Amino acid sequence: MSLATEIRELAREHNAVILAHNYQVPEVQDVADYTGDSLALSRIAAETDAETIVFCGVHFMAESSKILSPDKTVLIPDAEAGCSLADSITAEQLREWKAEHPDALVVSYVNTTAAVKAETDVCCTSSNAVDVVNSLPRDREILFCPDQFLGAHVRRETGRDNIRIWLGECHVHAGINGRQLAERAAASPDADLYIHPECGCANSALYLAGEGVVAPERVKMLSTGKMLDAAHASPHGSVLVATEVGMLHQLRQAAPEVDFQPVNPEASCKYMKMITLEKLRDSLAHGRDEVTVPEDISTRARASLEAMIAIGNPGSGE
Ligand code: SF4
Repeated sequence: MSLATEIRELAREHNAVILAHNYQVPEVQDVADYTGDSLALSRIAAETDAETIVFCGVHFMAESSKILSPDKTVLIPDAEAGCSLADSITAEQLREWKAEHPDALVVSYVNTTAAVKAETDVCCTSSNAVDVVNSLPRDREILFCPDQFLGAHVRRETGRDNIRIWLGECHVHAGINGRQLAERAAASPDADLYIHPECGCANSALYLAGEGVVAPERVKMLSTGKMLDAAHASPHGSVLVATEVGMLHQLRQAAPEVDFQPVNPEASCKYMKMITLEKLRDSLAHGRDEVTVPEDISTRARASLEAMIAIGNPGSGE
């Protein structure tokens, strides 16, 4: 029996739903019930009647699933799969920052721990961050965390100068830089550019467009979910993709006629790649590693996620 068949049988036996984030290795994506960004996956899983959710992604994503499905068992195939962006701010650091700015509202990207979400007024994704900030009173100061590139994007798009931005970053996205983007764009003059706003090159892309180096209509700032929508809507030509390379598997399946190429082929998240088929099989077989969130933290974290959803665009991020 192949490993994939064994996994599907175990999932059926345990009434489990398998979720795989877009940045997982292709064989894990292919064995999952659902692939997508972390929030969309958590919301889908909450709607299913599965008793167990196996989240193939990183730890904060499994925590979000637990927050939205408190009565289900949530497993992650390797509890050591962390996230450098989520780790760039702790709940203690956020409490100290809030104490320095007691009148400010806190907006946190969903790539944060449950404990940070519990200290947050409204969460956001990369596709709704601008809407979320625009929904807040213009005269209230905003503390935006943890991603500095997404924060810069939001500040530029909203035109607000009362946004304080935490200087966090993801080591993978920060590693996709403007120089690489300019070189790749010059070498492929007809290619569109799909850029995740968390990328270090996001500001460079807008600058290059402004300078006429890259035609502005070629530059598309998109969350991972919106990248897939764009691929479905325009299934031809060539596209340079500035985000984690795992995204290419979904994009190539969505639009096989399009030549999708990474801006940086080295942009691979080592944490995402910790999940393997063997670990997924063992997770289902032995019920590990279970992810739990203390009830008081879960309640407050859920409120910040629901505040975002109530704004009307649940969006998608990473
Ligand atoms: S790609 Fe970056 S933000 Fe995403 S899980 Fe990996 S470290 Fe975290």
